[in-house]
Amino acid sequence: MRIVIKIGTSTLTHKTGNLNIRRVEKLCEVISDIKNAGHEIILVSSGAIGMGVGKLGLGKKPEDIPSRQAAAAVGQCELMYVYDKLFDQYHHTVAQILIAGTDLDNEKHKQNFSNTVARLLEYGALPIINENDTIATEEIALGDNDRLGALVSRLVEADLLILLSDIEGLYTADPRKDPNAELITEVHEITDAIRDLASGKGTVLGTGGMITKIQAAEICMEAGISMVISNGATPENLYDIVDGKKIGTKFIPA
Ligand code: GLU
Repeated sequence: MRIVIKIGTSTLTHKTGNLNIRRVEKLCEVISDIKNAGHEIILVSSGAIGMGVGKLGLGKKPEDIPSRQAAAAVGQCELMYVYDKLFDQYHHTVAQILIAGTDLDNEKHKQNFSNTVARLLEYGALPIINENDTIATEEIALGDNDRLGALVSRLVEADLLILLSDIEGLYTADPRKDPNAELITEVHEITDAIRDLASGKGTVLGTGGMITKIQAAEICMEAGISMVISNGATPENLYDIVDGKKIGTKFIPA
């Protein structure tokens, strides 16, 4: 299978913006193992701004664009340094690809992107993609990596997109507020009722929330790609997801 795994900031970092070492080490181990089993893996990783906040000691995510972009510039290096070091333990070679929203409107850029990813996969490398946060302005920024993950999945003709977040999946109500909220394990169609379930809030350092995940699911389902939302706190779940077991919420195209 060709699998795109989107890793959210909340999975990679503590609330301080500093690396969640135990979590990220496990994640890289499991992803390496899945790759060793013969699957093609492409990562879409957030965390540049969050890790920049941690490394620069800013305390919280800045409000203004230049400060966020500066944090992303610092954090992107740190992010790739960590991935390079951890995946190298399992003899996997990482490759960084930064993509801007405008690239996705440009046929030539899209083609170059797809060709590069295809070649990296042929080489056995592990592409790690993020938005090019330092040049994107508010108008052209994709802004969230959930939709970027879906757009990448479509471009590389993935079989499956897995969104790792700080929540198990889509619930019948907000589980942080409603104790009766139940996990929805399968979605076959994005209806207005499903859209209404997605409340807008993400985490302190991340960007997306359930809304951007539902938008990602719409892009995937339209393209015939399955998508799973799962909690990144338990990286071992990735084994079961790849094996087709019921974990989190699975969006299944017609
Ligand atoms: N590109 C942003 C970053 O790496 C994250 C966007 C998101 O949280 O979805 O910090």
